[in-house]
Amino acid sequence: MTLGTASTMPGQPAAVADLLRSGEPMFSFEFFPPKSIKAEQVLWKAIRELESLQPSFVSVTYGAGGSSRAMTVETTDRIASETTLLPMAHCTAVNHSIAELRNLIGHFADSGVRNILAVRGDPPGDPSAEWEAHPDGLSYAYELVELIKSSGDFCVGVAAFPEKHPRSPDWETCTAHFINKCRAGADFAITQFFFDWQDWVRLRDATAAAGLDTPIIPGVMPVTNAKQIEKFAELSGAAFPEALATRLRAVAEDPVAVRAIGVEVATELSEKLLAEGAPGIHFITLNRSTSTREVWQNLRSLQPTVG
Ligand code: FAD
Repeated sequence: MTLGTASTMPGQPAAVADLLRSGEPMFSFEFFPPKSIKAEQVLWKAIRELESLQPSFVSVTYGAGGSSRAMTVETTDRIASETTLLPMAHCTAVNHSIAELRNLIGHFADSGVRNILAVRGDPPGDPSAEWEAHPDGLSYAYELVELIKSSGDFCVGVAAFPEKHPRSPDWETCTAHFINKCRAGADFAITQFFFDWQDWVRLRDATAAAGLDTPIIPGVMPVTNAKQIEKFAELSGAAFPEALATRLRAVAEDPVAVRAIGVEVATELSEKLLAEGAPGIHFITLNRSTSTREVWQNLRSLQPTVG
């Protein structure tokens, strides 16, 4: 088994959906827009270090507003023009009119960005506050999928929630809305991070039972900082396993030991997911390369033909 890489037709960036159709497990990396010059240097060090692994694509999350959004666009543009990597832009409906979204989508097309992850977003400031759509904007991600699809030859991904979205009343309702997003034209999905492989299998099977074959790429976050991940888990609604929390708390003052546990857990999860037929792994890097590279090396040593 070999992991797929971003092979592009001359002049045309590859579509993630086409890479997925090759049937080879893919791996990809997620970054977030840096907030300072120093953070930008850290990000670009990680990008350059991870570039040599030839991921299938890399993505940049869409900021909550203003300068952070400009930095998403700048970083995605720079990846497209200055690296060998295939970029995917995240795009949200937060505080954007449809006209502004059309402009943004047009900008991505002009920069050679063909892959877009269409996510609804959360209210800036307090992600758990009541969602309010822009008066001339969109309310749900499926509408953003339709908008992007109607704007050109884009390959569009959506967010998936193996455990359930924190705002959804129950897993069944959440999954029904997810299936609706797939039917709206999503080419693939990437999940929120999670720790139990069976949650991914359950979502994959429910999607298949609805008659859809939308590839669902698991999002895996190697733990590098116990407190940070517990906070993310609280915000995302992902269950942070008590056994893992206990192991991490025992070594909380030792960053090397925390990272080693994070790499071990992410390796085991990724290995299990690939064995269960996951189409690849999307690593949430938090703009650092070391843990992600170690997980990748582990997967490669477990599957000698990988990479
Ligand atoms: P939706 O699919 O619109 O769902 C939002 C809520 O509404 C859910 O509870 C859903 O069940 C419900 N719902 C959906 N459709 C309907 C309907 N028709 N009627 C009633 N209820 C409905 N956030 C960012 O700000 N920037 C990013 O770059 C970003 N990237 C992400 C990447 C991934 C892989 C994931 C998993 C999440 C990401 N997020 C990002 C977070 C995301 O924006 C939030 O989780 C947001 O709350 C939900 O986005 P969504 O696209 O799933 O929204």
